[in-house]
Amino acid sequence: MQPFHYSRPPSLAEAIVASARDQNRTPDVTSAFLAGGTTLVDLMKLNVMQPSRVVDLNPSAREFSSIRFDGSVLRLGAFAKMATAADHPDVVNHFPVIAQSLALAASAQLRNMATLGGNVLQRTRCAYFRDPSWTACNKRSPGSGCAAIGGANRQHAVLGSSEHCIATYHGDFGQALMALDAVVALVGPDGARSIPFASLHLLPGRTPHLETNLRKGEIITEILVPAGPWTRRSRYVKVRDRQSYEFSVASVAVALDLEGDIVNDVRIALGGLATVPWRAFDAEQRLQGKELNETSATEAARAAFAGAVAHSHNAFKTKVGQAAIVRALLETAALEVRRG
Ligand SMILES: Cc1cc2nc3c(=O)[nH]c(=O)nc-3n(C[C@H](O)[C@H](O)[C@H](O)COP(=O)(O)OP(=O)(O)OC[C@H]3O[C@@H](n4cnc5c(N)ncnc54)[C@H](O)[C@@H]3O)c2cc1C
Ligand code: SF4
Repeated sequence: MQPFHYSRPPSLAEAIVASARDQNRTPDVTSAFLAGGTTLVDLMKLNVMQPSRVVDLNPSAREFSSIRFDGSVLRLGAFAKMATAADHPDVVNHFPVIAQSLALAASAQLRNMATLGGNVLQRTRCAYFRDPSWTACNKRSPGSGCAAIGGANRQHAVLGSSEHCIATYHGDFGQALMALDAVVALVGPDGARSIPFASLHLLPGRTPHLETNLRKGEIITEILVPAGPWTRRSRYVKVRDRQSYEFSVASVAVALDLEGDIVNDVRIALGGLATVPWRAFDAEQRLQGKELNETSATEAARAAFAGAVAHSHNAFKTKVGQAAIVRALLETAALEVRRG
C-alpha cells in the first residue's frame, strides 16, 4: 500500500473541501472518500487504487444513515449499512427485491460494515484489474489493452461490453435500484443535485477507466426509490457458483404489476451479465399487456440477450441468464401479495 494522507472531517461540507484541497495546485493529488472501506481498502492494499488523500466520511455519516418510507418514496441514507437496509421492515415488506438483493450479497460481516453508497460504487472483480502484475488493463491503465478478452473470461460480461473492456459490474443492490427507477441524491463542490440511478454508471466504450457520472468531489447522500403497483410483487434471483458468500454468475431483479395473469407493468434488471447494472427493456416490452406464463417468459428472456456478445469462456452465461429470467418472472408472479 502507498502512503496517503488521512482525514476525518466533522461534516460533509468540510469533507468536500478536504477532498479538493491541493488538487488545483498539484494535479498528482488524488482523493478518495472512505465509507465502510470494504472496496477501497482492499484495492489500496492491492495497489490498484492509490489515492494520496483519503477522506473518511464516517464522522458526517449519521445525518445520512437513516431509512424512511412515507408511503410513496423510500429514502435510503447512503451511509446506512447493507445489513440494516436488508432487515428494515419497510424495505422487507414494501420493496422485497431491495431487501433480497442486499441479503444475498457478500457475507454477514461485510454487510455489517459496508454502506449503500459504497455498494453502488464498488469496482469490478475482474482478476486482471485487481492484479497490477497484469499490465494490460484499460480500466486500471488507459490504453494498455485488455488481458481478459483473450484470457480467462468466464466471469465477464456478455452485455454492454466493448472491444476495450468486458468487465462485469458485480453488485447486487444496483439491479434492484435499476428495476425500480431509483434516483441518486448527490452533494458536491457545486451544490446538490439528483440523477437517475440508471445514469450513474457509464458503459465502458473506449474509456473503461471512466466508470460513473459523479463529478469530482461529489458524495452520494441518499438513494430515493418511488413506490408503485409493482414494488411489493418484486423478487431478486441470484445464480452463483456456491450458495453463499459469492458474486453472481447471473442475477435478475423483477418487479411486477399483474391483473390476473396479465402484465400491467414489469421491470427486469440483470446482474453478473453486463458491464453496468442492466435494464432489460426489450424483455419488458415483450411482456407488456400479455399473459405471463412459461412461454411468454421464455420469449422475453430470449429478447433480453438479443445483443449479447460472448468471449471464449462465457457463452454459457446467456443460457444461465435466460433461465434465471424465466425463473424470476414465474416466481414473482406466484407471490402472494397483500394490498395496502
Ligand atoms: C469478499 C467480498 C465479497 C463481496 N460480495 C459481494 C456480493 O456478493 N454482492 C455485492 O453486491 N457486493 C459484494 N461485495 C462488495 C461489497 O458489497 C462492497 O465492497 C461494499 O458494499 C462497499 O461499501 P463500503 O461502504 O465498504 O464502500 P468503500 O469501500 O468505503 O467505498 C467504495 C467506493 O465508493 C466510494 N464511496 C463510498 N461511499 C461514498 C459516498 N457516499 N459518496 C461518494 N463516494 C463514496 C469510495 O471512495 C470508494 O471508491 C463483496 C466484497 C468483498 C470484499
Ligand atoms: S475486462 Fe476491463 S477490467 Fe478486465 S482486464 Fe479488460 S480492461 Fe481491465
